[in-house]
Amino acid sequence: MKIVEPAKKYDFWLRGGHVIDPARSLDGEADVFLSGCRIVPPPENGHVEPADVREIVDCSGCLVLPGLIDHHVHFSWNTSGIAPDLFCLPNGVTTACDAGSVGTNAFENFLRFRVMPAMMTLKASVNVTTGGLAGAGYVENIDPALYDVRAMTYLFERYRPYLYGLKLRIGKDISEGMGLKPLEESVKLARRFGTRLSLHATHPLEPVPEIVSRLGEGDVLCHSFQAMGPYRILDENGRIYPEVWNARARGVRFDTAQGRIHCAFSVARAAIAQGFQPDVISTDVTTYSVYQDRLFSLPAVMSRFLALGMSLHDVVRCCTAVPAELMGMQEEIGTLRPGTLADVAIVKLADRKVSFQDCHGERLDAAQLLIPQMTIQAGRTCYRSLELSGLFR
Ligand SMILES: [Zn+2]
Repeated sequence: MKIVEPAKKYDFWLRGGHVIDPARSLDGEADVFLSGCRIVPPPENGHVEPADVREIVDCSGCLVLPGLIDHHVHFSWNTSGIAPDLFCLPNGVTTACDAGSVGTNAFENFLRFRVMPAMMTLKASVNVTTGGLAGAGYVENIDPALYDVRAMTYLFERYRPYLYGLKLRIGKDISEGMGLKPLEESVKLARRFGTRLSLHATHPLEPVPEIVSRLGEGDVLCHSFQAMGPYRILDENGRIYPEVWNARARGVRFDTAQGRIHCAFSVARAAIAQGFQPDVISTDVTTYSVYQDRLFSLPAVMSRFLALGMSLHDVVRCCTAVPAELMGMQEEIGTLRPGTLADVAIVKLADRKVSFQDCHGERLDAAQLLIPQMTIQAGRTCYRSLELSGLFR
């Protein structure tokens, strides 16, 4: 009995799909070839011998995308986090960043038992507080006097390849009476460790121009289209503040991090209409929002931004090339360039009438929905819909 299959020149021939690869400005019909855990160039003479291929996948009618990157998720067991591989891979997501669920006290534990064992590529931000996000009913203490800088130093010295940056949350119930001191101290710490600060500022207590003026190149403003409380990225006339444009010009990045309550369609619509598209589109998923109608999954969040007027190419860029670059991994992921990791999301853009709703009760009618068909991570099939099984005659 033959147990080991002889190696073939190609493991996968993804044939006849519409490839969108914003990192290479590619948008059109093309075949993609995989060998082992890498993407490889198509044969030079354009001819492929089917006998040289282990598996041919008919991708006609589908989009072939770089494995998607969910830039803002929550994976910690104790803070309403969800299981990384289980939630992400069936949704075309092959890479993700935990958005600072865990503080310095438990971070090493989180890294070794949750982040490192995952099949997908993961990084995590260190919450600047010792306790991190403890879950509903408990708010982390963001007083800078209590930060454990020694523990942070250890984490950045020992685990840097797994670390995405530092994370701080400010706003109502978190930073009352503290002003922007925690933000200023956290930015200083990020610079000291040569990393970025990701800032959650929902229901902020200070106007957004004051907040973004403290951020610098590579820092991320999460939940950038939020509308809780009096302050948002729009001024009283609904215009993007000049300080927000300036922050982008300085290299601050804006992530939608949708969540259940962190994205107002009215703000997103106004921003996009003024040419202020998000840099990154992500879910901010937790157990409260996983597969729930206001969020559902990354492809569902991407579909919302199509309905809000962004092009498919731009939406894909926000979930591939841009987050890959922010992770410092653009040579490895976020593209289908030969030589990179064989992470691929095969997705259908289906005509479906959908009505999305945000936390403010605003509705958004969509005519198209991205529906995942197959996910390949590092050359291995991790998910495949029955529709794309090749079983139908
Ligand atoms: Zn979050």
